[in-house]
Amino acid sequence: MPQPRVYHYQNPVTGEHLASLLPPDHPEMLCLQQGGHIPQSKFGILGKSCVLAAIIWFPLGIGLCLLDRRVQCKRCGVVIDDGICG
Ligand SMILES: [Zn+2]
Repeated sequence: MPQPRVYHYQNPVTGEHLASLLPPDHPEMLCLQQGGHIPQSKFGILGKSCVLAAIIWFPLGIGLCLLDRRVQCKRCGVVIDDGICG
């Protein structure tokens, strides 16, 4: 049985040391090594029909659209801001 390789990383922002099984070319590790994520706003299912919802349920529709917005990292896909709490 080969032992799983453990990779060591250091966060350039916090200086925090971290051991992970994920390789350096893994998107999550790329974000870690570069000290941040690439935020990208995304809209959920409600957001896609946002214009329609805003017209039909005005003004409630606009609120729904804002609730369904979330910010995700373009590279690793981690949810930075889920829109509801933030
Ligand atoms: Zn990321």
